[in-house]
Amino acid sequence: MSLFDKVVYHPDTTLVDIGPGLLWDPGVYDQLVPKYHRNVVGATSCPGVGVAGFNLGGGYGNKANQFGLAIDTIKAIEVVLPDGEVRTVSETSGGDIFWALKGGGNNFGIVTKWTMETHPQGDIWFLALNYDQQYFDQVQAAIWAYIQKQVPKSNVETRFEWTPANGNEFKVAAVCHAELFYDGPGPPEDLFKEFLEIPVIVQQKAENGTWKEMMECLPNLRQTYRMGWGSNGTDQPVNDLPDSFRGRYTCVMLSRYTPAFMKWVVELAEEVSKALKSHGGLQFYHNIWPLSPTMFENSPPSAWPHGPDTAFFPLPIRCLWQGKEDDKYWLDTLAAVTEKVRRYAIEQGCTTDGAPVYYNLALDGTDVSLIYRENLPRLVDIRARYDRLGVMNRTGGFRIPLEQPLL
Ligand SMILES: Cc1cc2nc3c(=O)[nH]c(=O)nc-3n(C[C@H](O)[C@H](O)[C@H](O)COP(=O)(O)OP(=O)(O)OC[C@H]3O[C@@H](n4cnc5c(N)ncnc54)[C@H](O)[C@@H]3O)c2cc1C
Repeated sequence: MSLFDKVVYHPDTTLVDIGPGLLWDPGVYDQLVPKYHRNVVGATSCPGVGVAGFNLGGGYGNKANQFGLAIDTIKAIEVVLPDGEVRTVSETSGGDIFWALKGGGNNFGIVTKWTMETHPQGDIWFLALNYDQQYFDQVQAAIWAYIQKQVPKSNVETRFEWTPANGNEFKVAAVCHAELFYDGPGPPEDLFKEFLEIPVIVQQKAENGTWKEMMECLPNLRQTYRMGWGSNGTDQPVNDLPDSFRGRYTCVMLSRYTPAFMKWVVELAEEVSKALKSHGGLQFYHNIWPLSPTMFENSPPSAWPHGPDTAFFPLPIRCLWQGKEDDKYWLDTLAAVTEKVRRYAIEQGCTTDGAPVYYNLALDGTDVSLIYRENLPRLVDIRARYDRLGVMNRTGGFRIPLEQPLL
């Protein structure tokens, strides 16, 4: 899809057409923000994430508190349907297929263009900080203080992360990486006060307040392991990511945090990390990312069930390791940890048993009924009508079931 690489901004409607062959960064943001001073709800956790998968599954980013998910801001989609017909679908034309493509994954055709709403983009404020393990309790208290303030133009993402320590066969080093974002030149006074009072190992700032600078501060897909800065107080990375690394994300969907739940989650990550050294592990983290309870206020209907009544946001869990021989260990561990966190979150009132799993951070083998919940029967019906032959079975991803595909 790399030839689908255009970004075309329409000043009359303030909508933008985006090619699905692009990454958000480097890519979409470079073509849109400096020239038009407008922006979209795209990926912000890390350069290297593609537009297509992000937009087909949902899309949580720095602007989710203000505008919801990426799929909530999609206005039209050009798609090659499984029978080869090219169609542009929107809320007013193509009805159910437009709904199905927003969160329904790659079950309904190949997208060749996204049309998304844009919002004005001025200067931003961004700080990335790394904290030593001795301050983990204080960081959790800072997250809790931030949650109470509820400022939609802001976002705080933290990763409590363990990596094998250099030169010691058994030791693992821990660090908390925090990203503080405000969509304006300066945050309201005291918004991030509690974070800024904690001593840091190292920090990076978007000095001139541009969106591009913020993205440059973020670790990219290959560099993420380098964020495991030594907990010995130096600013040297613990290790480099080997070429042969393997890894998985999974997540638990939450509606709220409590201090006790946060503490338990961080302690669990530490416990799991004890196996890093003995099982080829390179990194393990729990990502505490408290989004706003009002983030879905204006979310239109879409295949992935979410709406104004309840917000759901992911608690991403990630492991990197090397060596195929450890695949089973880490995949089983990730599945077990995810279920353990989910169960405890239910017990603590931080989520419900029926919360939909997030397609883009779901482990292999996740049952689609857990992703689509009450929307699955409608999706099954749409797929049966649009993909009778089962053409989309030839692609990867989570499959909406199709009875007796003809191919
Ligand atoms: C480091 C990292 C950070 C992340 N951070 C976030 C985050 O902050 N928020 C979030 O919501 N998610 C996040 N994710 C998850 C991310 O949204 C998914 O991994 C998503 O699938 C990435 O999209 P992609 O296009 O890069 O992936 P790809 O693997 O290229 O594509 C994903 C799927 O879409 C299909 N596909 C690709 N192009 C098309 C097309 N044109 N038409 C139809 N199907 C197509 C592919 O066949 C594949 O099944 C992150 C992932 C990583 C690895």
